[in-house]
Amino acid sequence: MSELVTKSASELAELIKSKEVSSKEVTETFFDRATDLNHLTLSYLHLNRETALAAAEAADKAQSEGKSLSPLHGVPIAMKDVLATQDAPSTAGSKILEGWIPPYDATVTKKVRAAGMPIIGKTNMDEFAMGSSTEFSAYGPSKNPWDLTRIPGGSGGGSSSAVSGHLAPLATGSDTGGSIRYPAAVTGSVGAKPTYGAVSRYGVIALASSLDQIGPVANTVLDAALLQDVIAGYDPMDSTSIVESLGSMADAVRTADITGLKVGVVKQLSSDGFQPGVKACFDDTVAKLSAAGAEVVEVDCPSFEYAVAAYYLILPAEASSNLARYDSVRFGMRVMPEGNPTIERVMAATREAGFGPEVKRRIILGTYALSSGYYDAYYGSAQKVRTLIQQDLAAAFSKADVLVTPTAPTTAFKLGEKLDDPLAMYLNDIATIPANLAGIPGISVPNGLAHEDSLPSGVQILAPAKQDAQMYRVASLIEQMYVGEWGAPLISKVPVLEAQNG
Ligand code: GLN
Repeated sequence: MSELVTKSASELAELIKSKEVSSKEVTETFFDRATDLNHLTLSYLHLNRETALAAAEAADKAQSEGKSLSPLHGVPIAMKDVLATQDAPSTAGSKILEGWIPPYDATVTKKVRAAGMPIIGKTNMDEFAMGSSTEFSAYGPSKNPWDLTRIPGGSGGGSSSAVSGHLAPLATGSDTGGSIRYPAAVTGSVGAKPTYGAVSRYGVIALASSLDQIGPVANTVLDAALLQDVIAGYDPMDSTSIVESLGSMADAVRTADITGLKVGVVKQLSSDGFQPGVKACFDDTVAKLSAAGAEVVEVDCPSFEYAVAAYYLILPAEASSNLARYDSVRFGMRVMPEGNPTIERVMAATREAGFGPEVKRRIILGTYALSSGYYDAYYGSAQKVRTLIQQDLAAAFSKADVLVTPTAPTTAFKLGEKLDDPLAMYLNDIATIPANLAGIPGISVPNGLAHEDSLPSGVQILAPAKQDAQMYRVASLIEQMYVGEWGAPLISKVPVLEAQNG
């Protein structure tokens, strides 16, 4: 394994800046490793050597002319397949979009390119980002680099396995209910969901528009912060985009200080239902924060009990409407049925063949929840719960600067273990969903290995809306507490993938 692939993105950026290594060398090294090992992890759905190396050469040329386009100039990145890329297929893990090359780049894609970052490829995901394991990808599941018989989380398991397996130094994710934070927790990496509206959704293949948010997947908190700085910012193409700047996340990380910090432990997410080893890691984090001088208080969020139920009405409702655009007419797959091909029959045959079981399940749920006579009982009630959750969080943030919870109830489970039990799959997001319903930022940082199985656990840090910098500050403080214990970010301890081959 080349030493380059074990470096953090910020270290790689420094090496490129000081011309000790070229962007082309770095990109080629990651690209070759990704090509060699992708059959083990299925992190990527699409890899394109030519476009990646051309972008790296352009970055090197700019550098030689004294132009550094961003603090991540020359550092390669993997993009979740939910983001439109005009030079590569963008399928969102679905058969219905197989081979579809968008006519334009998402704003995030444009920003990444403008930052001088070569795109290595597109990462695997649950179909239309519905899932917690990538097992609902139409192209097969990604695997966890810590143990290839286990899931890397979802829906962004392609990004989390690419970053934790060192098949990319950085990646993007999309988080509607936890799809950045949950995969980060179970792969020992860092994943952040910014405040709703902080990063543009223009060119993002939509799941649930009032919940979707794009964010960074990285090996360190600083790397995640640097990437959020690249992709965030006002975009007139997204009507929910936040106009004001939220400041520099990287600056917040670099100046992190614990003085006066008040940390809230959410009562409803700190006791029952967590694997004992995960709970022990969480208690240890809280003890460390307290020992370092933070004031720890308990906060009560009684409405969190209904978060998963409300989410699984709001998400399917919005998804069923967003997915109506896959009609076989405008783009994507078209299946011609036998007999008289009326437009309705072509649409039905296409959607029958093009969508997988989880997508169909949610379209049915969402259509039902929105149908007349049921709308108020289901969708209306769920929206009320959403307001209650926002009120709980507002009360909690009046007592604490940030809230902490375990990110996931368990460490990575075995492939196949929850595939036939949708409810068990949905419950993986019990701690992450409230942030999406309230639009607030959340990040997952590694906080140890669970004692039962020696697999990574993550702690989630939540901050009030638009206070992403505060969230990064605390994430960085927690990371530093563990670097003392491990000698490096946890990711350096991931078992070598090559050794698991076979
Ligand atoms: N696991 C959740 C779901 O299936 C989260 C999805 C997401 O964040 N994209 O809906």
